[in-house]
Amino acid sequence: MAAFDYDVIIAGSGPAGVSTWLHLNKLNPELAARTLVLEKASHPRPKLCGGGVMRFADTLLGLLRVRIKVTSVPVHNAEFRYHGRRFYWRQKNFFRVVRRHEFDSALAAAALQRGMRLHEQEALSHFEYLEDGIQVYTARRCYRTRVLVGADGANSAVRASMKLREPHRVARLIEILTPADPVSSYEFATNTAVFDFTAVDKGLQGYIWDFPCLENGAAYINRGIYDSRYYPTREHADLKKLFRAGLEARQVYGEAKKWQGHPERWFDPYATVSQPHILLVGDAAGVDPLAGEGISFALGYGAVAAEELVEAFDKQNFRFAHYREHILAHPLGKALQQRRLMARLCYRGWPRVLTTMFFIVMGLRWP
Ligand SMILES: Cc1cc2nc3c(=O)[nH]c(=O)nc-3n(C[C@H](O)[C@H](O)[C@H](O)COP(=O)(O)OP(=O)(O)OC[C@H]3O[C@@H](n4cnc5c(N)ncnc54)[C@H](O)[C@@H]3O)c2cc1C
Repeated sequence: MAAFDYDVIIAGSGPAGVSTWLHLNKLNPELAARTLVLEKASHPRPKLCGGGVMRFADTLLGLLRVRIKVTSVPVHNAEFRYHGRRFYWRQKNFFRVVRRHEFDSALAAAALQRGMRLHEQEALSHFEYLEDGIQVYTARRCYRTRVLVGADGANSAVRASMKLREPHRVARLIEILTPADPVSSYEFATNTAVFDFTAVDKGLQGYIWDFPCLENGAAYINRGIYDSRYYPTREHADLKKLFRAGLEARQVYGEAKKWQGHPERWFDPYATVSQPHILLVGDAAGVDPLAGEGISFALGYGAVAAEELVEAFDKQNFRFAHYREHILAHPLGKALQQRRLMARLCYRGWPRVLTTMFFIVMGLRWP
């Protein structure tokens, strides 16, 4: 048997990777102590994101006795736009808007305080299978581990090294920040987040969002466009054109200095989420195709993956043959399946159903 440097290596220290470690530490501190987390960047690292943290993300962290205290704007109203009409969902603290570099850095700090071993600026480049484990390669060295957890986001190098031949299932997003006056801005004054589905009629399988946020004490509106591409065979919407039209309608096109885009992988119950000695979590496995919400789901994956890890080491069986079933049976998987069903209905062209169902589904609690 090969000598192992670690029992578990987690690639990626975003919400999915850190949550996996925190849950592991809760269930089996000895195993968590024999775990290494590799991170390509160093915290606080940039992360393109609307920063909408649903209440149940905080509930999940609360179960781990973790409280992320970072600058946030509470959202009490969600405004939904479609066909020139506006619909509202009012719920106190429906979600909060954070800046992701701050949120993720605070989350990593909470885990570091509990003893998480983190190597920053050390990206996994690829891995090879050993007879009874995995050999992980980084630019610095190689490590032998029993289990590798791919928590390295939508462009997962772990997933790429698994050489899967499967449909793509990737959403596209573009995001910008525009300066705002916190007194007169509608979103700030009314604590409102806008979800604008107007462009569904033009082929967008998603929406444009406007979320109020604070960065370094200054007020901004985080604006972006989400295209789930749930029906990949349909002609792709011209995201840049639709986003530009949306910004012009809001009279902020000139203020949008830097456009940035990033993919997001969405969940499919038939997609591969494990191989012997390998588990995928968070964006590497797949999150919500309806709204592109991923933070709470990434945290939820951590709970399921940690249970899988503990059971695997107890039984000395690292095939992870039932990880998919474990996800599907867990409230995480049930919520992901609801979102998938809603995406299927809404982006098929039944947006009236969408108007009523979207917030109901978004409002469901799953932990
Ligand atoms: C534009 C945009 C807006 C979004 N808005 C929202 C929102 O408002 N609310 C919401 O809930 N979700 C939102 N999401 C989705 C959310 O950001 C993701 O679902 C979530 O970040 C997934 O967490 P994760 O830990 O799986 O991946 P990530 O947060 O991407 O973390 C992956 C980590 O792995 C590291 N990494 C990458 N490659 C390697 C490697 N080879 N080796 C080691 N480390 C590596 C990265 O540096 C990173 O730290 C948005 C996504 C996008 C793109």
